[in-house]
Amino acid sequence: MEALISEQSLQTRIGDMAWEIDRYYKRQEWYRNTQEPVVVIGVLTGAIFFMADLVRKLSIHTKLDYLRISNWSYSMSPKISSLPFTKLCNAHILLIEDILDTGETLRKIHRELYWEKPSSMKTCVLLRKPDKAPADIVVDFVGFDIPDEFVVGYGLDHKGRYREMPYVAVWSEEDEQRTSKNEVDRDKSFHCG
Ligand code: 5GP
Ligand code: MG
Repeated sequence: MEALISEQSLQTRIGDMAWEIDRYYKRQEWYRNTQEPVVVIGVLTGAIFFMADLVRKLSIHTKLDYLRISNWSYSMSPKISSLPFTKLCNAHILLIEDILDTGETLRKIHRELYWEKPSSMKTCVLLRKPDKAPADIVVDFVGFDIPDEFVVGYGLDHKGRYREMPYVAVWSEEDEQRTSKNEVDRDKSFHCG
């Protein structure tokens, strides 16, 4: 699979994003006065590598937590299946998501987390498809704007696979044909019981 965003470009941009995020929080009066940790919440599973690389480049104080959301299909609205353990009332939240596509996922998460009455919530996404992202979904830190293509790697999957690739690639028609042929061959040669 050909890289859309190389490992080197990802790491360089994530370093710059960490600098932007540090600068933002270090300018906030509450942070300067209290040094209270920012509660960084990663959206499982896609954001794991991005979050791990980003937080290790930050110099502000943080607490790490996760939430899990399921996108069953494009026709059904996403469902939060596991909320963070950290108490979010009066907390300063930095939400970390892999990609902003139609915005349905972030809309759901924002709505749910605002119920907890945090003092502030900022959102950081690695990738954004600007042609599709709706104007009412506010993201504060964006890694890369990408074309409206299905991408895999660096946390993003296709049917549960390719998350571990260290770069981001476009999932092409040839990839689709090659893998579906392999699946058919495997089904023909493998029998359980
Ligand atoms: P949205 O709700 O903004 O349409 O989509 C957000 C979720 O859909 C992402 O968190 C991600 O799980 C999935 N998604 C959207 N676009 C892509 C893509 O190009 N590749 C992959 N692997 N997942 C995507
Ligand atoms: Mg996601």
